[in-house]
Amino acid sequence: MFAIRTSHVLCFVFSCSQSFASLGSFWHISDLHWDPTYTVTDNPDRVCASNGGRPVPNAGKFGHYLCDSPWDLINSSIYAMKDILPDPDFIIWTGDDTPHVPNEQLGEEAVLSIIGNITHLIKLVFPDTKVYSALGNHDYHPKNQFPAEQNNIYERTAQLWQDWLEPDSQLTFRTGGYYTEKLLNRTGHRVLVLNTNLHYDQNKATETMDDPAGQFSWVDQILTSAASNNEKVYIVGHVPPGYFEKKRHKPWFRPNFNRRYLDLIQRHHGVIAGQFFGHHHTDTFRMFYDPDGAESPISVMFLAPGVTPWKTTLPGVPDGANNPGIRVFEYDTSTLLVKDTVTYYLNLTHANIARARWEKEYRLTEAFQVADASPSSMHRVLELMASDRCYLQRYYDYNSVSYDRSACDHTCRVDHVCSAREVDFDRYERCLETEGAPPPGHALTPLLLSAAFSLVWASQ
Ligand SMILES: [Zn+2]
Ligand SMILES: [Zn+2]
Repeated sequence: MFAIRTSHVLCFVFSCSQSFASLGSFWHISDLHWDPTYTVTDNPDRVCASNGGRPVPNAGKFGHYLCDSPWDLINSSIYAMKDILPDPDFIIWTGDDTPHVPNEQLGEEAVLSIIGNITHLIKLVFPDTKVYSALGNHDYHPKNQFPAEQNNIYERTAQLWQDWLEPDSQLTFRTGGYYTEKLLNRTGHRVLVLNTNLHYDQNKATETMDDPAGQFSWVDQILTSAASNNEKVYIVGHVPPGYFEKKRHKPWFRPNFNRRYLDLIQRHHGVIAGQFFGHHHTDTFRMFYDPDGAESPISVMFLAPGVTPWKTTLPGVPDGANNPGIRVFEYDTSTLLVKDTVTYYLNLTHANIARARWEKEYRLTEAFQVADASPSSMHRVLELMASDRCYLQRYYDYNSVSYDRSACDHTCRVDHVCSAREVDFDRYERCLETEGAPPPGHALTPLLLSAAFSLVWASQ
């Protein structure tokens, strides 16, 4: 042992407080999906328009797993954020505000009014907080059909969000629904908010285009100048590339767009400090690897759970509901490195019986025994999931925000591991083979499946 003089102790304390001072935090919320028709009634057919034809027994004040969010749930989630972390550095909000109902039950004005009401609530509760807000595929009418040019919805949403958007952001938002700014106006930090609804395979408006609204070449240019300006960048969006982990062979992007996105991340990963997306309603992540160095992790995309508990109508997903979830990210304010995630949730069943109590679900570094949320740590989480049944089950419980507590079996393991590991379509298929998927003939081929999906109405 050696003696520590007072001056050293003071020095140690000082350096400690310095490292704490560089830790910041922000909220990420996604997929609120407000259903204004939600009513607590004993008639199971009249609770909500978003039930997809399913009877809704025992509806409660804070919602039902077969419905999108009642206003009470939306309100509760935003005020829970205020209770838990009242003064975040900023908020990331990744869209999907309207209910899962047929287009005929909405309309342009209804969509804009729903976006407007939720915007108003967030501004009311967090009047002085910067919000980086992305459009979800349900934030357009008709849903998913985002045009690659100026239109009334981009225009009016830019007005609703004008307090959050810099003048230059308003310009690109009005023409393409995307924008970039210095993060919190700080030199060296940048955020890109994307409109990846333009790359969604359900969007017929962009079906034949190479680069809708010039977004990919714009991202390429912004990230190239970010590198020369020594900036670190957060990328924010709604529809993610890669596959849905709860449904085998189910991607969202068109193949050419998926390749282009992956290529951008692989070329510019040196400046990208994190990617934050939604759309799945589940809690999961996607790894990006160096194409030249096998297993060398270069970036992570975090997919935040939804606030809506809505059980997906996607065929083949047996019980795709979730508890409402909201998430705090902790990050290094000088490097933008993601240090940790803390996910909070509402046990919906309990909330309807007693009261709405938002609880901590888990802290990433505690639950998976990793140092931080860096690409190498998240690679470690993925390897733990792939090799250890206990960690796999823990990840799986969190995936539905502690709604589905059933065992994650062999098929489930392959689906979750391969979708987290491989954003690239071909590599995902190879992963299914190497991780021990059933041989061809036991399942529908991807081609048949995509034909089947195009016949049904089902989107996140
Ligand atoms: Zn979505
Ligand atoms: Zn959604």
